[in-house]
Amino acid sequence: MAKIGINIATGSLQQEEIIVGIDLGTTNSLVAIIHPETKQPVALKEHNSSSLVPSVIHFDEFGNVTVGEEAKKYLITEPQNTIFSAKRLMGKSYNDIKDNASFFSYKVIDDASQAMIKVQAGSKFYTPAELSSFILKELKKRAEHILKTPVNKAVITVPAYFNDAQRQATRDAGKLAGLDVLRIVNEPTAASLAYGLGLHKDSGDKTIAVYDLGGGTFDISILKISNGIFEVLSTNGDTYLGGDDIDNSIVQYWLQQAGVSEDELRTNREFAQGIRLQAEAAKIFLSANDVFDTTFNGDSLTITKQILETLVQPLVDKTIVCCTNALKDAGLKKEAIDVVVMVGGSTRVPLVKESVSRFFGKPVNDTVNPDEVVALGAAIQADILAGNNKDVLLLDITPLSLGIETMGGLMDVLIPRNSKIPNKASRQYTTHKDGQSGMKISVYQGERDMVKDNRKLSEFNLTGIPAMPAGLAKVEVSFLINADGILVVKAKELRSGVEQSIEVKAQQDLTDAELEKMLLDSITHASEDIATRALVEARTEGEQLLTTTEKFIQKNITHLSNEEMAQTATAMQALQLALTMTDKDLIHSKVEELNEISRPYAERIMDQAISTAMRGKTV
Ligand code: AMP
Repeated sequence: MAKIGINIATGSLQQEEIIVGIDLGTTNSLVAIIHPETKQPVALKEHNSSSLVPSVIHFDEFGNVTVGEEAKKYLITEPQNTIFSAKRLMGKSYNDIKDNASFFSYKVIDDASQAMIKVQAGSKFYTPAELSSFILKELKKRAEHILKTPVNKAVITVPAYFNDAQRQATRDAGKLAGLDVLRIVNEPTAASLAYGLGLHKDSGDKTIAVYDLGGGTFDISILKISNGIFEVLSTNGDTYLGGDDIDNSIVQYWLQQAGVSEDELRTNREFAQGIRLQAEAAKIFLSANDVFDTTFNGDSLTITKQILETLVQPLVDKTIVCCTNALKDAGLKKEAIDVVVMVGGSTRVPLVKESVSRFFGKPVNDTVNPDEVVALGAAIQADILAGNNKDVLLLDITPLSLGIETMGGLMDVLIPRNSKIPNKASRQYTTHKDGQSGMKISVYQGERDMVKDNRKLSEFNLTGIPAMPAGLAKVEVSFLINADGILVVKAKELRSGVEQSIEVKAQQDLTDAELEKMLLDSITHASEDIATRALVEARTEGEQLLTTTEKFIQKNITHLSNEEMAQTATAMQALQLALTMTDKDLIHSKVEELNEISRPYAERIMDQAISTAMRGKTV
């Protein structure tokens, strides 16, 4: 294994390879490594500056790009050329974000299609992965400058709820920045690692809640570590809830106090930006003091910690509802949580810490810098990948169930929601027509019983199935999700060995709100779904019975009496009619009636066939 020997203090180094940990955040991003001497994770920073690089990109008219603090200065003066929150666009189409389009002050292209989003800055268009790659390039450049060595390998963190397309876009961003992305790691997993949780195989089972309140997003994840194995049990959150909302509520409070209309914020951008910065300064100051007082545009702006807390309370309450939901999804009571880990700059607000601590009934872990904790954990993961800690195995989960469409448009789940990643599942299917040479495999994601209510991820055809009677072909469909959450679907006809596979990179992916809606829908529509599934299954059974009966009669017409023929025809007509209606019990009873009529002659004909076959043979 490559040896690393760096002296960060003097900047001298002798090393073969380094793997950095990167927190690619919505508001801020940063890089961390394991210090070669202390063996502790450290965030990289230039002298006297912050380790945080604002995730902001500015494009000038000549196509020059600046990233970070420099770019942030253009947020007010050149909003159309200054890109923030690119992470929110990763792996999305315009349709996915259209409800929040006004959030972005730059131009997000509305091509009314499901293609991946593009952003326009100047005369050029950029994908979110390209935008993120500018941030990663900047981080790589800084790291190389500080470490005085090339940096080509990285572990990058993403929210636990990121789906395939979002993870893939993050990987692409790394590639574009010249980084070999060795692993995409969940942020809460990284944060837990930074607290040393799960680093020793024999440290016993632990259940951890990771509460992450940043500038613009909130998420809560429940993790379980058992025998060095890390598993995400559930995630919940709100992608439009964070420190920015606290800042906005302080602004509203000041406007109200001064009797200034909110229109001022819309019409006077400089005023809006200026007062927002004051609000953020007040919030940060009040995390350690009781009163904030300043002058702005000649007016006095004051706020006390007490007032701030009344403003923050509703926001905290929302996060607590998410915590309750996450626990419910994990099937746990809050008493089952052993450790609560705080992540994100906004967890520095004392009321946040107190409320979370009260909810879980135990003190929270907040000793590691909440802005750096995820990157530090990513550095630890990088170290594990470098082979320096063989005891740890990391597992993630699938946010929604994955399956394929079967007869009647039903969803057949192969990998249920909240399954561990990596994962593998397979099931056998068969053909329903004689001589059927192809089978369409449509892959869906979601919790509803009918595929039309779920999301289609991909579709392909297994072709070249040799001609055989219906029901004889054995098609094995297997799902494999690798450690990065990328799904590979394979279909193989076992008798002939014909096979086809596809890597599923969803073209259009889910926003959190959609994810939440899909989960909620599955609950609210549960009874309706059960009824629909039962009806579809009854119809499929009825249709199959009609086909087989018809085939049987055609083949054995000479062995049937006229009465048997007439009775069968009547029963078939009755079943056919029932199939056009929505009463599954009626279908079942007509299926039963037809079976009752055909069973005696079917048995008789079979017996005759057997005795003919046996004739002349000694048993
Ligand atoms: P993050 O997205 O984790 O970088 O968090 C950024 C958010 O944390 C911003 O909304 C900051 O205003 C907020 N923040 C940073 N420091 C403090 C502090 N001391 N008190 C309250 N909020 C803070």
